[in-house]
Amino acid sequence: MKLTFLRYILTLTTALIFSAAVNAADTKALKEPLLVQVFIHDDVSLDLETINRNYFSWMVKDLESFTQRKVHLRFLKNTPGLTDFAYHGENIDSILWLWKVAVHNYITRHNLPQNKFRKYLLLTDRVIKSGTLGIADADKKVAGIASLSSYNVPAHELGHLLGGTHDAAKILYRPWPCETNLDSHRTVGFALCYVYSDENKRLIADYLNAGS
Ligand SMILES: [Zn+2]
Repeated sequence: MKLTFLRYILTLTTALIFSAAVNAADTKALKEPLLVQVFIHDDVSLDLETINRNYFSWMVKDLESFTQRKVHLRFLKNTPGLTDFAYHGENIDSILWLWKVAVHNYITRHNLPQNKFRKYLLLTDRVIKSGTLGIADADKKVAGIASLSSYNVPAHELGHLLGGTHDAAKILYRPWPCETNLDSHRTVGFALCYVYSDENKRLIADYLNAGS
C-alpha cells in the first residue's frame, strides 16, 4: 500500500513536471520561429563550426530566451550573386541598396515567403569600409551585411533587422564594463556583454509579437 501510494505520488509528480515541460515547449512551438539565412561570403575562410560558436550560438540562446521563439539559422555558401557580392567600398548606401536587390532577387527566384520572421545576412571577412563593420536596412528590416571583425557584428546588424536601436543599447557593469549588442561604437577596455540590453529585448519582442 505504502509503495503503491508512493508510486502514485511519483507518477503524479512526474506527470506534472512533464506537463509543465510540454506546456513550455508548446508556447515556443506555437509562436512563429525566426529564420535567419546567413550567406557566407566566398572570402570567408573560417569554418562553419567556429563561425556558429563565436558569432551566433550565444545570440540564438539570448534571442530564444526573451522572444519565446525558436531561432533557426541556415548557412549558405557558394551562391552566385550573393556570396560573391561586392560589399567593400565607400558608398555604403549604394552597397546596401544593391545587397537588398540581390536578396530580393533570391527571394523571388526561390519563391520564398516574405514576412518579418525571415532575415537575410551576408557574412564577410572584411569590413565594408574603414569604421563600418556592418550595415542593415533598419527601414524594411529584411537584409544586412555583417563582417567577422568583431564577435557582436552579426548580432548588432540582426538586432537592427528586429527593431533594435543604438539608443536602447547599454553599457552593463558585471562588475567590469561591457557593451550590449547594439552599442554603436567600441570603447577600448570594454568587453562585449553577448546580450541585447533589456530595452532592446523589449523592442525586439514587441516587433516580433506585433500583429501576431
Ligand atoms: Zn548599428
